[in-house]
Amino acid sequence: MRVAIAGAGIGGLTAALALLARGHDVIVLERAGALAEVGAGVQLSPNAMHVLAALGLAPALDASATRPLSLDMRWGGSGRVIFSIPAGTAIEQRHGAPYLNILRADLQSALVSALMERGPGVLRLGAEVTAVLSGEGLVRAELADGEGVEADLLIGADGLHSRVRSAVVAPTPPRFTGMTAWRALIPAARLAHPPPRSAIVWVGPGRHAVTYFVAGGALLNFVGVVEARGDPAQREDWAAQGDVSALRSAFADWAPPVADAVAAADSAACWPLFDRDPPGRWTKGRVALLGDACHPMPPFLAQGGAMAIEDAWVLGDAISRGTGSIETRLQDYESRRRIRTARMLRGARRNARLFHLSPPPVRWAVYTALSVAAGLAPAFIASRQDWIYGCDVTLSAD
Ligand SMILES: Cc1cc2nc3c(=O)[nH]c(=O)nc-3n(C[C@H](O)[C@H](O)[C@H](O)COP(=O)(O)OP(=O)(O)OC[C@H]3O[C@@H](n4cnc5c(N)ncnc54)[C@H](O)[C@@H]3O)c2cc1C
Repeated sequence: MRVAIAGAGIGGLTAALALLARGHDVIVLERAGALAEVGAGVQLSPNAMHVLAALGLAPALDASATRPLSLDMRWGGSGRVIFSIPAGTAIEQRHGAPYLNILRADLQSALVSALMERGPGVLRLGAEVTAVLSGEGLVRAELADGEGVEADLLIGADGLHSRVRSAVVAPTPPRFTGMTAWRALIPAARLAHPPPRSAIVWVGPGRHAVTYFVAGGALLNFVGVVEARGDPAQREDWAAQGDVSALRSAFADWAPPVADAVAAADSAACWPLFDRDPPGRWTKGRVALLGDACHPMPPFLAQGGAMAIEDAWVLGDAISRGTGSIETRLQDYESRRRIRTARMLRGARRNARLFHLSPPPVRWAVYTALSVAAGLAPAFIASRQDWIYGCDVTLSAD
């Protein structure tokens, strides 16, 4: 099949590799003239790593990533541990794939290098999809320069503000979550109080922070999420580069590893967080949606990219087997992904509430209960993540 993919983000690049591996003729249409990765670090959990390993990327990723010792939740103010789930070799033994923390640029470079090697000429930069036309037996992506690209199938992997999405469902704006995320990379050598080498969520009223090391431990990836009022679309100061002094003051009175990290940050990117309720349909005719174009979620389970990666594999599998029409195969893809991604969205939204609990008695009661449960039954706390990390879509596919 000739497959056109709109978007060369994590989802589009993974889909291109998954489709090439199954012998399809692929073209990736990316709006940007050059692939410059924004946004610091990304966590790759075992469920995402199963797919990336099946595509032969594990050695390249492992070489540049860092393996967190544990996945912790801590009080933001005191730094006390609420619970800690062993990661490192323990999580790999439990789920058959590692948990990695990696620079987005390193992930992107592993995906792009593999694509260049396996499908030279597949990636077209400066190719913005502006409209989608469905014809008899084919679909056509109209590009901004007036050219049209015809294919048997078009995949919309063009992110939160997807153009392809409006060929599948009625266009609606994404939902502002009421939160902004700050992101910074801080050289580890500058930290007077480095946090433990774990992936840590530090929780506090109306805000939380996430820290983990990337680039073999040389850099600390910092994400700070704060509740923000107003409609971001109407604010002009939502430029990608934020005011680092506002970030510092948001976390200045937190535990030393957090306060120290923001004090050492030279600059920070800042942008509002959006999501969407699950769409009524994921596919229409010969068009299918994938990743953030379909089901953007807040990053509070660190699973948005992982869901795009899983989607990519399942889509490649669904369209490559069976004898049904393309439409039927795309519906198979949708039905295999719908429940899991909707559950992930609910879980991410629930975590926003858990991380930001405000009234002191409620915070104390909830976090103490979690802490006691983790002390009495650590295996139970770890097993509560199994539905996320224990899923291997490559097993159910072949
Ligand atoms: C603060 C934060 C932290 C996060 N942390 C994690 C994490 O730790 N782990 C995790 O799994 N996920 C994480 N996520 C989520 C993750 O970043 C996204 O879910 C993921 O990037 C989605 O990938 P995608 O390929 O669907 O879309 P995108 O990455 O948005 O890629 C879309 C691509 O399409 C291109 N494009 C857009 N429009 C067009 C067009 N009209 N024509 C052609 N090309 C187009 C864009 O230029 C872009 O290259 C985080 C998100 C945030 C905000």
